Amino acid sequence: MILTIDKKIHHLKELDFIERELYGIFSPDDFYADLREYLRTNPDIDLDNKEYLTEFEVRSIDDYVKNYFFSRIPEAKTWYMRAYIIGRFLAESDTAGTVVSISPLAAMPEFVQTAAKTYGLTLQEAKMLESALNTTGMHITNTTQGTVQEVQSAISEALIRREGSPGAVRRLNEMLTSDIGELNRNWKRVAITETNKLFNDGYISQIADGDYVIGISMPDACGHCLTDINHKIYEVTSTPPPDYTDLDGEERGKAENDWEMKVWAGKNNVGRTASRRSRIDKRGGNNAENLREKHHHEKSMPSCPYHPFCRCRFLQFNPKFQWIDEDNNVRLSFEDPEKHQTWVKEHIG
Ligand SMILES: [Zn+2]
Repeated sequence: MILTIDKKIHHLKELDFIERELYGIFSPDDFYADLREYLRTNPDIDLDNKEYLTEFEVRSIDDYVKNYFFSRIPEAKTWYMRAYIIGRFLAESDTAGTVVSISPLAAMPEFVQTAAKTYGLTLQEAKMLESALNTTGMHITNTTQGTVQEVQSAISEALIRREGSPGAVRRLNEMLTSDIGELNRNWKRVAITETNKLFNDGYISQIADGDYVIGISMPDACGHCLTDINHKIYEVTSTPPPDYTDLDGEERGKAENDWEMKVWAGKNNVGRTASRRSRIDKRGGNNAENLREKHHHEKSMPSCPYHPFCRCRFLQFNPKFQWIDEDNNVRLSFEDPEKHQTWVKEHIG
């Protein structure tokens, strides 16, 4: 068995490979080593014998961190694009029953326009891929901003405590490379969650409007996924519901139902969370008076990934021949035609 960077069971070696490559690009270990070297050798930065950084030093360090990660975004996008193309190919081979091989990375196009030509993406697909890649770029940008701030505060903290450069370097090391370090977690998330998202988007993009997919979770998936994703059937739609925060009545009911029952390429849970209730006063505690039931548009809805670090995936499902029994197993229609019919009436209509 191949263990992934967060030591979870993986469903596809290829995605594991992409995750590793991405994690390698943004490797907190390498970043830490390079940053330490930068701080040590830059004659304009002096962390010893003072309690604060000069404005110039603050700006120099900020720029260094930003450039470090921003310069890696184009390479990262190429890997995300590969995850998308693999998802697309797998869906194609599932629906057409053919075997496909992925061209080696050297031949992987760097830009969406080239990919669109090479793999025959439709205009709509190319647009969707472009926007998905921009979203991943935004995640990387946000994580970079967080890293800039964390680096800054680790160094400041060391100076205030008169720990000098050894203290600053030690604090940076703990933050970046230890398993409890939030930044390490954030950069892993960029590699894992986004890869799986692009893969699933690519897969769904090839499933026809009105066809069905089944959610597949790994045995070590979280409880939410085992309940809402694993062996659950969802209809694929090419016309996602509109923003319904301001809708009510029938229109809202339809949008809510679509979010619960349908999936589409690009569906995600941005702005939604799994918890059932929300705090009324954000600064207040979790006591009964300060909690309210969440609105529909605030609750997580079925999608792959379902949450950060989720590795669940969708797979084509044909209710003509397949159904799910009471023990949550996938069964073939001929095994029990009567039960199959009952299931279809109840779940597909
Ligand atoms: Zn999951």
